[in-house]
Amino acid sequence: MALYVQKYGGTSVGSVERISVVADKLIGYKQQGHDIVVVVSAMSGETNRLLALANDISKQPSVRELDVLLSTGEQVTIALLCMALEQRGQSARSYTGGQVRIETDDAHGKARIKTIDDHRIRADLADGRIVVVAGFQGVDCDGNITTLGRGGSDTTGVALAAALKADECQIFTDVDGVYTTDPRVVSKARRLERITFEEMLELASLGSKVLQIRAVEFAGKYNVALRVKSSFEDGPGTLITYEDNDMEDALISGIAFSRDEAQLTIKGVPDQPGIAHAIIGPIAAANVEVDMIVQNVAGDGSTDFTFTVHRGDFSKALAILETTAKQVGAKDVSGDDTIVKVSVVGVGMRSHAGVAATMFDALGKEGINIRMISTSEIKISVVVMEKYMELAVRTLHDVFELDKAA
Ligand code: ASP
Ligand code: MG
Repeated sequence: MALYVQKYGGTSVGSVERISVVADKLIGYKQQGHDIVVVVSAMSGETNRLLALANDISKQPSVRELDVLLSTGEQVTIALLCMALEQRGQSARSYTGGQVRIETDDAHGKARIKTIDDHRIRADLADGRIVVVAGFQGVDCDGNITTLGRGGSDTTGVALAAALKADECQIFTDVDGVYTTDPRVVSKARRLERITFEEMLELASLGSKVLQIRAVEFAGKYNVALRVKSSFEDGPGTLITYEDNDMEDALISGIAFSRDEAQLTIKGVPDQPGIAHAIIGPIAAANVEVDMIVQNVAGDGSTDFTFTVHRGDFSKALAILETTAKQVGAKDVSGDDTIVKVSVVGVGMRSHAGVAATMFDALGKEGINIRMISTSEIKISVVVMEKYMELAVRTLHDVFELDKAA
């Protein structure tokens, strides 16, 4: 029999009825003879509600007190879920992160897990209990409550699975797995049986919101088999695992896209050492994250420089760039916040040439102009105009035949 760590997200525990459904499911797993440790999120909307309360009191609440406040959301669900289990005759016990002793660093609001004491959990499992742990939280070495960042219950689940050497960490959510792309954009999108940690990490950082990025990183590092499943219907979900030989032999595993992009260009800057820093330095200093960067090969001693930022940072970045332009004597500054990024991801790219050519050909035939390109070992991203986003995603899904299993 297996040991599973199962994480249920906010919508899965969003009401008393749903908590009851989860309790019934858990008892089903227990009756099959499995040991179950459950991690739950706050009821849906609760963390946002708590954040809004804090903001009504202060525009800059202290990070320590914010963590004390936000951690309560999960404390509500662990207690309610245990009550539901006990009501059904199943012994269960709830723990906050601090009670387990999930020890983190002291970076409030984005703490990292350092150690997990598993002895209480093991003792409860040995006594036949279902153990329910509050996600998203821990304590620092001085006992202060910390939280792990939005979506952090996924990371709690993975970290517990690693500490307990669980057979699988199963993330129950409102979708039944990881798809080749967002089914709302491509109706033929297909659920993947398996995907590698690396691919999932790319997809997560490129805009797919199924799993918290940190959780995927953690799972990859400790080789925790991670499965995304639906909390509303039965099914195998998607297994996220290391690469192996019987992996689907696909060139491309998925297509990610992000609307949250804006592009900035500075033209006619002197082509000399230090210029890239003169342009990007002030942007970074203002805490604006820069994503793609392209610099032209200079012809006449001057060059052009284009980069992308989050759309929300667009006006801030443009103002900074205008100041920089004056300082370095650039010819012109321009920007566009109606662009998007579309990316194809797949470990198969490593061993097959021609993915980029196929991609560019397909987009060209649809009359979609590519404005920027960036690549990594397992990913190709292009920037296109927003109005072409859905067409680009559908075109690429078709050309790489992602609707068919490899
Ligand atoms: N409740 C937290 C959030 O809403 C953590 C989580 O759900 O994973 O971000
Ligand atoms: Mg979540």
